[in-house]
Amino acid sequence: MAQATRSRPSSSYDTRDLFRKDRNFHIHPWNDYPSAAERGCLVIAEGDGAYVSDSSGKQYIDGIGGLWCVNVGYGREEIAQAMADQARRLSFYNTFVDTTHPPAAELSAKLARIAPAHLNHVAFSGSGSAANETAIRLIHNYFNRLGQPSKKLVLSRWQSYHGSTYLTAALSGKPEDRVLFDSAYGLVHHLSAPDVYRRPNDQTVEAFCDDLVDELERKILELGPENVAAFIAEPVLGSGGVLVPPKGYHVRMQEVCRRYDVLTISDEVVTGFGRLGHMLCSEEMFGLEPDVIVCAKGITSGYAPLGATLFSDGILEVLRAPNGENEFLSHGFTWSGHPICCAAALANIEILERERILEHVRAVGPYFEEQLATLLDLPIVGDVRGSHFMLCVENVADKATKDLFSEDVEVGNRIADECQERGLIVRPMGHLNVLSPPLILTRAQIDSLVSILRESIVATMDGLTRDGHFRNKAGIARID
Ligand code: PLP
Repeated sequence: MAQATRSRPSSSYDTRDLFRKDRNFHIHPWNDYPSAAERGCLVIAEGDGAYVSDSSGKQYIDGIGGLWCVNVGYGREEIAQAMADQARRLSFYNTFVDTTHPPAAELSAKLARIAPAHLNHVAFSGSGSAANETAIRLIHNYFNRLGQPSKKLVLSRWQSYHGSTYLTAALSGKPEDRVLFDSAYGLVHHLSAPDVYRRPNDQTVEAFCDDLVDELERKILELGPENVAAFIAEPVLGSGGVLVPPKGYHVRMQEVCRRYDVLTISDEVVTGFGRLGHMLCSEEMFGLEPDVIVCAKGITSGYAPLGATLFSDGILEVLRAPNGENEFLSHGFTWSGHPICCAAALANIEILERERILEHVRAVGPYFEEQLATLLDLPIVGDVRGSHFMLCVENVADKATKDLFSEDVEVGNRIADECQERGLIVRPMGHLNVLSPPLILTRAQIDSLVSILRESIVATMDGLTRDGHFRNKAGIARID
């Protein structure tokens, strides 16, 4: 059996006690109460490089980088030291109105250097959700100042994920996340996801792309361009299924937006800081000139919570012009530009640059894609997709029809469980398994990861056959 091989950590934890405390008192994001009550949680206690270990000392390749986050890997002394030094020097000061501190000022300048030339102004926050919310609030403020107060609606895409605040949950487009939740839905209109694998059967990718672009233009005209403020999109749609759009899609969508004075927001919360081999991929990979780029997660490699919303010179010119009324731009958070988080980001960016991690991702990413694609010979692997260190396997009951297993089969969970047993963490999302490991993964570690995943999918198929979801091991026939 393929296994992730690393030595065990020395620390010891009382797992049962941790289970109990967690189950009784902790509301998790996307809490799954029945499963937590029955199985408890995996208590991840330590991390080192591309590996994490649980409270019993078992080690895993962290195939998900914490949650699309830990780009430079775990246990970076340099980041820990930068945070500790900053905590000693100045643990916190607010950045409201007319105070700042060195880490916020330094990081602002660094981000302006990293970002496309026209994006030189950054608003900090504490998360990706707050950073997206900041984008929308300031864009609304921008149009109000321009005397166009009707321009408020935001266009987003089904299957997208932009956050979990009231507004960003409305931007997000995963139907399953809306059940029994309310949101600011009236403000947001959704377009089709650029899901190439699930495009209509008889359509070429080019024709599919034409349709998506037409849909955007039709939607703007239907709502009235005078009412549409912005279009938000992840360059590669992440949590909704790692969807790489058709070639030319983003540039064409941007052209339509420009035609109707609709601002574009590129949500790089996942793609930013190296996951696709660039600090920011909007311009360098997709040729975009977004009005706003949103970052979080990899900006600190998950060492501290930080969101950053980068605005264009054009937007700032309007936001900072005297308006004769309230001169404050009344938006921001206590933690905006928290010094310890900014210090972590500066140290993280320094590592990404000095160790040439972006070059590593560009060199090794295609190898990762190729190796993962070898899984396509398995009967339930319908699609393998993604880019560089942002990848996904789509499991299907029938490769010819692309039919899914019924939900109660929980195919993604089963595969993730098998992987976990063999020392690999992958993220199950319905019928998908998603991979977003630390960017330092070597070719040899990629080989181990893919080999564990293959064994786990085969073991899952065996289980499905036993449970009657397949008639035979070839896995083509389906029983619902
Ligand atoms: N935007 C994207 C593309 C994301 O994937 C996420 C989280 O996964 C968010 C925004 C929200 O970030 P946070 O969970 O830090 O609020």
